[in-house]
Amino acid sequence: MAQTVTLIPGDGIGPDLTDSVKEVIGALDVGIEWEIAEAGEAVMDREGTPLPESVLESIRRNKVAIKGPLTTPVGTGFRSVNVALRKELDLYANIRPSLSLPGIETPHENIDLIIYRENTEDLYAGVEHMVGKHAAESIKIITREGTERICRMAFERSKEQGRKHITVIHKANIMKFTDGLFRDVFFEVSKDYENDFEEIDDRIVDNMAMQLVTKPNLYDVLVCPNLYGDILSDLCAGLTGGLGVAPGANIGEEIAVFEPVHGSAPKYAGQNRANPLATLLSAKEMLIHLGQSEAADRMQTGIEAALKNPETRTKDLGGSAGTKEFTQAIISNL
Ligand code: NAD
Repeated sequence: MAQTVTLIPGDGIGPDLTDSVKEVIGALDVGIEWEIAEAGEAVMDREGTPLPESVLESIRRNKVAIKGPLTTPVGTGFRSVNVALRKELDLYANIRPSLSLPGIETPHENIDLIIYRENTEDLYAGVEHMVGKHAAESIKIITREGTERICRMAFERSKEQGRKHITVIHKANIMKFTDGLFRDVFFEVSKDYENDFEEIDDRIVDNMAMQLVTKPNLYDVLVCPNLYGDILSDLCAGLTGGLGVAPGANIGEEIAVFEPVHGSAPKYAGQNRANPLATLLSAKEMLIHLGQSEAADRMQTGIEAALKNPETRTKDLGGSAGTKEFTQAIISNL
């Protein structure tokens, strides 16, 4: 049966990346039909908002979407469309796997980490204001409900996937109330899963950053409040080859939106230069979500074969191929 998926091409390199997804998924012939929904800078000029209601309606109707990155101007301009999308659709979990890939030289081998980042609260909620003219205040919000649902999802999915070590990340030594609540709720939820994991522990975020650089193989599943999850997942992207290879998924009760970890890299827009791998790996996660695991495996095989040959790798991975050539190499190896 055909499945309709909302596709947001996005800004900057976004359209190059989603074109690659359309081609590879088309070649897999899995009966996915795309409903294109425009958001971001171009729409802002035309419709006065970067996130028209029609985009949200399309995602609510189809329940599944894949998106290219959307630009957020620093300091002024519209608030982050990505953050707005996650809030509007209550996509409370941001799941970011980091897996070593063949042909990519990195300081550590056999990385297999997954970050569950809380996606709606924390300093990322952007509740901030000026206090008079010379001070600014940002309010960090952590709730029991928000923490419990991300922790439960992390435990449930990690148990299903047979993962054995789960770690909560915090700075509760300093932020005793907010991060203290996040850590406490994690350990409360963990009581239901004590027999499913070999290690259930916690790390302070600064120590975690150092350990991820020096001994990442000691870790497995990391559960983070929003801001630490954002920063550590870019660190983990660096462990497996950089932002060009890091996929992600935003998951709510009913809706899932898949997207790469990286941004819109405007300097490479339309130049056949961007690495589509992070978006393709996000599409692979989407296929698994849609129950198309066999197609997801075929896609992974095609990607690994294309990566093994330096001539078909993109420039950020030391190769010489453009977005299109890498895409064609994957298709010919499916
Ligand atoms: P960026 O991820 O766009 O770029 C960081 C660096 O990585 C740049 O050197 C870029 O050239 C490189 N890079 C990123 N993706 C690449 C790819 N696929 N192939 C090759 N090289 C790649 O981060 P930035 O410059 O901080 O942000 C640019 C814009 O993207 C900002 O407006 C930011 O707000 C937005 N952004 C959006 C998302 C999202 O849509 N979820 C996420 C992060 C940033």
